[in-house]
Amino acid sequence: MKQFRIRIVGGSLAGLFAGIMLQQAGHDVRIYERSKNGLAGRGAGLVGQSDLLHILRLIGCEHVARVGVVAKERIYLNHDGSIAQTVRMPQTQISWDVLFETVAARIAPETYHLGRGVIDVLDGGSGAELVFEDGTREATDLAIGADGLGSVVRPALNPNNNENRYSGYVAWRGLIPEASLPTAALVLLDRFSFHVRPGVHMLGYLVPGSKGEMNRGSRRYNWVWYRKVPQSDLAATFTDRDDRSHAFSLPRGDLSDDRLTALRADACEVLPPQFALAVEAEPSPSIHGIFDYEAPRMIGRSIVLVGDAAFVARPHTAMGVSKAAGDVMALSNCLASETDLPIALQRFEAERSVVGREVVAYGRQLGASAI
Ligand SMILES: Cc1cc2nc3c(=O)[nH]c(=O)nc-3n(C[C@H](O)[C@H](O)[C@H](O)COP(=O)(O)OP(=O)(O)OC[C@H]3O[C@@H](n4cnc5c(N)ncnc54)[C@H](O)[C@@H]3O)c2cc1C
Repeated sequence: MKQFRIRIVGGSLAGLFAGIMLQQAGHDVRIYERSKNGLAGRGAGLVGQSDLLHILRLIGCEHVARVGVVAKERIYLNHDGSIAQTVRMPQTQISWDVLFETVAARIAPETYHLGRGVIDVLDGGSGAELVFEDGTREATDLAIGADGLGSVVRPALNPNNNENRYSGYVAWRGLIPEASLPTAALVLLDRFSFHVRPGVHMLGYLVPGSKGEMNRGSRRYNWVWYRKVPQSDLAATFTDRDDRSHAFSLPRGDLSDDRLTALRADACEVLPPQFALAVEAEPSPSIHGIFDYEAPRMIGRSIVLVGDAAFVARPHTAMGVSKAAGDVMALSNCLASETDLPIALQRFEAERSVVGREVVAYGRQLGASAI
């Protein structure tokens, strides 16, 4: 197998999966992550789909899948808080934080560089060049864009179609210690709970504690409230308490006090009382825009996109991490079985662009009935 110099832009799960798999295969790999302080402690929960479980086995992290909280059933609440329907459908939520930290521990530390934002990637016939925020440059045989929703690698391959398409709604999210839920809201625990009616979509479930705690009293409750926001109000929605605007989300701790008060008042009016209490218990909700994106091209001559940089699917699919895992396993297989880089990349794109489009379409379909 031919060994390549590979540089990865983005050090979240797609970048880490790629870095570990390709290091295991003997390639010279480095990961450049823009965040200065790392990503640990920022996630909630996710569903362990088959491609995720598969890659975890390949990189020796299969034990992470056991760090999860089981929701024994789904309940659908009426506006008055009574239970309209109960569906026996157990589902496990794995901890995003534990997953991230366990996977991050598998990468050779000297090859993972924090605070290294890339601003451009140039594609050439015999390699690519990364341009960093500080003006430095680095040549590589293959550049992997694992830089998510706001990818800077994407435009190098798709100059005329690299914008995420806004869905018309955002997700407000809260993540609170379960102990902060008042007694009147305890029906929410140990269940996947929903309140869905025209124009309203709220859900919530337990996830492990930030260190993977699974015992009663130490877990966290994650709620997600999908709310329509006209495109014209999106910039204001993502403007923080210091008047700084963010591109795709409003991080925890950045919401102004007035908006928090308004959110709580809306929750009392619109949501069942148990969910309104869960909203009340969150002092720092975050807001995430819901977008779709399909890359017309996943590959260039010496560049490839994986994960959310290539395809952004709505969160209702719960497939973002699994899709990234599938991309990385396919890329790793193509590089292992083909010495010619362009041919390996073409095989990769043929395999994964179909999957990416299907997942985005599925997310759009779920979204159409979600709100
Ligand atoms: C902090 C965080 C928490 C998350 N929590 C959850 C969760 O609880 N549940 C869930 O299902 N999904 C969660 N996700 C999303 C999920 O991980 C992704 O949908 C999926 O793993 C695909 O990820 P990705 O690596 O392709 O993109 P992302 O996860 O978006 O990662 C992209 C990475 O690239 C970095 N980056 C961006 N631009 C540049 C640049 N120019 N130069 C260098 N680096 C750059 C970003 O800082 C980021 O780390 C979370 C993502 C993040 C980043």
